Amino acid sequence: MGAAGAPPVANSFAVAAEPNSTPAAPKFVLTPEADISTIVEAARARYNTGVTRSLSWRKNQLRALFRMFDENESVFLEASHKDMAKHHNETWAYDVLILKNEIVDALENLDSWSKPERVDPGLPNMLDTAEIRRDPFGLCLVIGAWNYPYQLTLGPMMAAIAAGNAVIVKPSEVASHAAAAMAHFLPKYLDPVLFPVVNGGVPETTALLKIRFDHIFYTGNGFVGKIVAAAAAKNLTPCVLELGGKSPVIIDETADLAIAAKRVMWAKSINCGQTCVAPDYVLVPRGKVDAFAAACKDAVLDLYGENPKTNSHYPRVITKRQFDRLTDVLDKQKAIGTTKVAVGGETDASDLYIAPTVLTGVSGSDPVMEDEIFGPLLPILPTDSVNECIDFVRAREKPLALYVFSKNQKVVDDVLARTDSGNAVVNDLLMNMTIPNLPFGGVGASGSGKYHGKAGFDTYTHTRSYLQCPAGMDLVTMPRYPKMAYSNGGRKLLSALLEKRVGGFWALMRKLALPTRTWAYVFCIVVGFVIGGGAQNRWTWWR
Ligand code: NAD
Repeated sequence: MGAAGAPPVANSFAVAAEPNSTPAAPKFVLTPEADISTIVEAARARYNTGVTRSLSWRKNQLRALFRMFDENESVFLEASHKDMAKHHNETWAYDVLILKNEIVDALENLDSWSKPERVDPGLPNMLDTAEIRRDPFGLCLVIGAWNYPYQLTLGPMMAAIAAGNAVIVKPSEVASHAAAAMAHFLPKYLDPVLFPVVNGGVPETTALLKIRFDHIFYTGNGFVGKIVAAAAAKNLTPCVLELGGKSPVIIDETADLAIAAKRVMWAKSINCGQTCVAPDYVLVPRGKVDAFAAACKDAVLDLYGENPKTNSHYPRVITKRQFDRLTDVLDKQKAIGTTKVAVGGETDASDLYIAPTVLTGVSGSDPVMEDEIFGPLLPILPTDSVNECIDFVRAREKPLALYVFSKNQKVVDDVLARTDSGNAVVNDLLMNMTIPNLPFGGVGASGSGKYHGKAGFDTYTHTRSYLQCPAGMDLVTMPRYPKMAYSNGGRKLLSALLEKRVGGFWALMRKLALPTRTWAYVFCIVVGFVIGGGAQNRWTWWR
């Protein structure tokens, strides 16, 4: 069960190990702040042994991560149910399955992703080997968010492992059951020194951010994103920020309203709207607002029945704090005379329940349009043209996702050409997340840096330029030294080689698409024969 080469020891810093690891829920235990630097130093020391460089070692870690979910699925699913009443199958489909697919994709492609890329060294270095190596950054920090705790925490970690890094894993304390499950099982499957879990909140994360890492990956809100970016900047540490924002849906005159409403309400209701790429608001042609709101009502009825509260498929808001934030926005919005609750609106603090809620009569300056909603409230705003929609989106921060519903390709092209967003989906929502090789990430205020599939591997890879020259053969280096290079003869030689005759000849040869090395052989053979009159020993020395 333990990872190959790693003793299956529990991480005593972070976890109160259960007496036995069967479905009893692991307990959330804060990592003592005093232990954090020891954990980090141990990971760095082990990383420095070079153990992570082996591709087969990395694959074993990835396979162990896959097995961790296979063998303990019920514990992971139940943890998310405890955190936010999420249906087991919702966690399985949108949190675990996506991650497992990513692991399989990495296992299938790691050999090709990590292959050094040969670079044509050109004429002056024709006898050398030039390549781009795919090296790991080193010791990385992953700070996860609570809404999809497994894929948002272990997805980046998985990419970092594939690229050969060590990772300090900091799950969100807000989804404490999921965090406890990760802290409990990760050290049993992966190398516990290289991939330790630090559990905690602001003080623990602050302590981590004081330490110098080689890479930081943060998922969460933009306010904390700035704190993380500032901490990273102090050490010039590269940093990926996966943030949020208000992701718009643009619906044009040609869209099928029933289909659009069904897909929008599905994307707005899974995880109780607490999805970074959930639709935040919908721009609908003015004359179709009522029809679209009615279609949303039908969609909710179809998805969750008359009373979503009693439907086990519909989750809850994660904390009372988030519940209060959402109901406060809802109350402020309802207080505006024009606003109408077209769907839902029911709330229950004792159960952290907020019904899928659709609001009409909303304008761009209303309370519900100020910040990212990140909950099951959906404002519909009337618009008079696609141009107006584009202007509306452009006047705000660049969103994480942008959705367009239209049968008119010209409209789709126009919207894409004149807006910016981290991701864009036409006639659907969220499904881009299920394709491992579509890079995922934000732009501007919604984040920077990408992951998923090869993009994740590349994010955690330092492309190291590498040139290996022959150890001897000092003769060929002569033209570069001042005595020869700065002489008239030397200049003529260099000019002949690089600028004029041979340079031109070389360019022609390159057009024939053979690598420099091949032409170096041809060139040397020709020169060897010309100078040496065919004596082989004149040109075999450099082989
Ligand atoms: P959160 O509260 O879990 O915070 C994220 C992480 O930041 C946690 O690990 C937390 O411990 C840490 N943190 C919190 N305050 C901190 C501080 N002062 N200093 C240092 N670390 C601190 O998650 P959240 O921010 O509530 O998440 C919701 C936001 O994240 C939304 O805006 C959502 O759109 C965004 N999000 C983005 C993505 C994405 O992939 N782009 C995914 C999920 C969520």
